[in-house]
Amino acid sequence: MTEEEMWQAVLRNDAEYDGIFFYAVKTTGIYCRPSCKSRPPKRENICFFENSEQARQAGFRPCKRCRSDLIDYQPMKQIAEHVKRKIETLYREQAKLSEEVNGFGVTERRIADIFKDEYGMTPKTYADKLRLDKAKQFLIKTDMKIIDIAYSVGFGSLSAFYRFFEKEMGITPSEFRKSHPI
Ligand SMILES: [Zn+2]
Repeated sequence: MTEEEMWQAVLRNDAEYDGIFFYAVKTTGIYCRPSCKSRPPKRENICFFENSEQARQAGFRPCKRCRSDLIDYQPMKQIAEHVKRKIETLYREQAKLSEEVNGFGVTERRIADIFKDEYGMTPKTYADKLRLDKAKQFLIKTDMKIIDIAYSVGFGSLSAFYRFFEKEMGITPSEFRKSHPI
């Protein structure tokens, strides 16, 4: 994560970053979580910490307002949850998804490791699972054309969708649909 990204999170009081980092205000000697609603400090007066322990060791006191001393220190878990939410909202837009995940400031490989520790599969496997589940739903419950299904679950072409589906299911999408009459 870049300092700029952390700073933007502070300005937005973004609770999604709580536990991932803390910021401290040099002029007050207090450290906060990103979602703290206290008046935004000046950019030049703040510094960032990965956890509240580091902030305390650097001589800062926890904020009474956001109780930055109480938050669980589980940054890895939170990164994994954050990525999981992104996948769930963006799995049908692959380009946007990888852009968002890259924008998180942790290498893709590191994210894959963190995610796998938490959920037992890579982000790609998870996104594929969501795509497949959604495609199966469309095939069984709607009469959408297969090409439209392919696009709506995030594939750029019908052939890419067929390859993916056959690999996962062992049969083609049309065979799958035939074997599950509405
Ligand atoms: Zn605070």
